[in-house]
Amino acid sequence: MRKNAWNTYNETDKKAVFALADDYKNFISNCKTERECVKEAIQIAEANGYKNLETMIKEGTPLKAHDKVYANNMGKTLALFHIGKEPLANGMNILGAHVDSPRLDLKQVPLYEDSELAMLDTHYYGGIKYYQWVTLPLALHGVVIKKDGSSIDVCIGEKEDDPVVGISDLLIHLSHDQMSKNAAKVVEGEDLNVTVGSIPLKDTEKDAVKANILKLLKEQYDFEEEDFLSAEIEVVPAGKARDYGLDRSMVMGYGHDDRICAYTSLRAILEEEDIQRTAVCLLVDKEEVGSIGATGMHSKFFENCVAEVLDRMGVYSELNVRRALKNSNMLSSDVSAAFDPNYAGVMEKNNAAYFGKGIVFNKYTGSRGKSGCNDANAEYLAQLRDIMEKENVCFQTAELGKVDQGGGGTIAYILAQYDMQVIDSGIALHNMHAPWEVASKADIYEATKAYKAFLKHAK
Ligand code: MN
Ligand code: MN
Repeated sequence: MRKNAWNTYNETDKKAVFALADDYKNFISNCKTERECVKEAIQIAEANGYKNLETMIKEGTPLKAHDKVYANNMGKTLALFHIGKEPLANGMNILGAHVDSPRLDLKQVPLYEDSELAMLDTHYYGGIKYYQWVTLPLALHGVVIKKDGSSIDVCIGEKEDDPVVGISDLLIHLSHDQMSKNAAKVVEGEDLNVTVGSIPLKDTEKDAVKANILKLLKEQYDFEEEDFLSAEIEVVPAGKARDYGLDRSMVMGYGHDDRICAYTSLRAILEEEDIQRTAVCLLVDKEEVGSIGATGMHSKFFENCVAEVLDRMGVYSELNVRRALKNSNMLSSDVSAAFDPNYAGVMEKNNAAYFGKGIVFNKYTGSRGKSGCNDANAEYLAQLRDIMEKENVCFQTAELGKVDQGGGGTIAYILAQYDMQVIDSGIALHNMHAPWEVASKADIYEATKAYKAFLKHAK
């Protein structure tokens, strides 16, 4: 059995574990969309000396060893580069994670009135159990882009005196039929409609409650019904991340998947100064829906960034781009399933992840005969074991559940197409993809240590 990280901590370590968890709780409490994550990550990066690559390209500023730059892709994906002493063509040490999380998106024509209630229609994003999203306080986060290109930020439901919205569930007294349905049908995807109002606008004949909500949106946010057409508004659990457990050893929050790996990867690249090879942190969008689109990992964004960085260093060539990518190492981080005694049946104990046992390395993911997996090379795992031991990092290895119980995908296989060394790694959770997920503070701490050790030593 792997050791429990809590047993390795002295009082100073424990303080550091709890302090890091506090910073992380703040991050996920404030950042509940991919746009909010990227915006905040840019602010943190700039405060730590990172410059905008776009500006450097425009101004023709050269890049050299020790420089720090970031590239922002449409406000939804971010790449950070800390240029190392070694030539870029020797390869990079890359930390990757995703900043999109399962949620409900407002449809393009979302607002309607039914029986004098104003409702918002949604289309869920990512894999969710519909029934988990009813009777919860929900918040609206997102942007509305007007025809003139101006952008309105929306965030309703997070301040102490903000209203919240929500999705109703059927009272138990009338649930005889509902209770005999299977879990996928108890609440249906199309029925995830958010209640947002019930006061009719005076002297209005048709849809007076809806009219009143539109009036309110116009007054408070200066947008109109048509503007929903060019909006991205996400319905997410309202409220802050909290300490979980009487000993405060865990964090309950929305969007651990995968902001927990994104935040710890970001902290690692900002904190680790002792690097030889160029360090990269990639925070990507769209993982939960297959990594497609301009801001997903399948996009050419990252490859283009590498070309631009080489160009800024005066050594751009097609061959150098290919070499830089091919010679790289990557920790593709995403959350794992932590062993849960309530659901022990889906796990195989020797190859499950556990709370408090550190960062998880998944040699492979995939399902049904490892189908679709990125099976990391034994040679690469051996190097990682050596690095983790060198820096006293607690780590564990795991599969996602028993053979033939299911499985999951990540972004690992996409980067592996460049012929680089990639392994799935990350932090184990309870309640993955539920509105409120749970993680261990020790694992957050050990993951950050692991990422720093990787940036420093991997070759
Ligand atoms: Mn994920
Ligand atoms: Mn996920």
